Amino acid sequence: MPKESIIIVGSGPAGLTAALYTARANLKPLVISGNQLGGQISITSEVENYPGFPEGTTGPELVELMQKQAERFGARLLIDEVTEVDFTQGLPFQLKTYGDTYEADAVILAVGASPKRLGIPGEETLIGRGVSFCATCDGFFFRDKDVIVVGGGDSALEEGLFLTRFAKRVRVVHRRDELRAGEALRQRAFANEKIEFVWDTVLEEIIGNGKVEAVKARNVKSGETFQLETDGVFIFIGHDPNSELFKGQLEMDERGYLITDDHMMTSIPGVFAAGEIQDPVYRQIATSVGQGAAAGMMAERWLESNT
Ligand code: NAP
Repeated sequence: MPKESIIIVGSGPAGLTAALYTARANLKPLVISGNQLGGQISITSEVENYPGFPEGTTGPELVELMQKQAERFGARLLIDEVTEVDFTQGLPFQLKTYGDTYEADAVILAVGASPKRLGIPGEETLIGRGVSFCATCDGFFFRDKDVIVVGGGDSALEEGLFLTRFAKRVRVVHRRDELRAGEALRQRAFANEKIEFVWDTVLEEIIGNGKVEAVKARNVKSGETFQLETDGVFIFIGHDPNSELFKGQLEMDERGYLITDDHMMTSIPGVFAAGEIQDPVYRQIATSVGQGAAAGMMAERWLESNT
């Protein structure tokens, strides 16, 4: 069974930064990528708020640069997914992937979060047939088409703005009459001729025979239900932490976010967490990078005094 000093689970900004710090400490970290190399930013089109890029950059470019930088100091990237962990038997910790079982004296969990679902009829069955959680991935298929974006946060507006490059009309359906998104994105969205807002409205069903054709919607104030014809439904209503694997082993809050102490350590000494898996508040690339650096430093110190 391959034995590692430290395994980092997840390859988003938190994981790759933890890899950089532990690699520079000569720990030769093994990074297990997860099902999406680079995590959520790998499907983010524009990144304008990560320092060091005055003209902005793209998610995939950032991932590539972060990966290269970590590998330059000896981090090893394994394209695989952790399917099972055992942190309860003391050292070494055990992690099973599709390909093998690994042992490690320290682990940093940077497994991030996944898009939330609306939980309405038609949503699951029409994924890839007009229902999408990623404008960067699927926007291209909606050239001159009509799309609906669900949500009122930064993601909904950012992705909605991206979709205006392709779609002829983007209707943002939001459950309130006030956006959660920040001022800069709000202004850009209000100024964009292709974007329309449908306020105080929730979707009750996504309708389509083999592909999205319409949605059934309800005005939450008047109770009126109505149908909107559309070709696509892009859903951006927040995220859930990917903590299913750790249930019963690590302490988490009621929403499933891992609980860490001031040193990024989870309830099991030697198991650290960074990024969105333990951060329901900030959820920025810049903050995930900071948490990854902190977890890397603390894991190094912990290994030094405990192994
Ligand atoms: P978010 O801020 O949690 O917003 C989620 C939106 O979806 C809210 O408007 C919410 O409505 C709505 N919503 C939630 N559950 C819903 C449901 N079941 N049905 C209908 N609507 C629902 O999530 P996010 O936009 O993904 O952003 C997450 C974090 O990433 C935030 O901190 C954000 O600032 C950050 N982010 C930043 C940028 C940027 O700075 N460029 C870009 C993307 C994301 P309510 O408003 O009524 O709660």
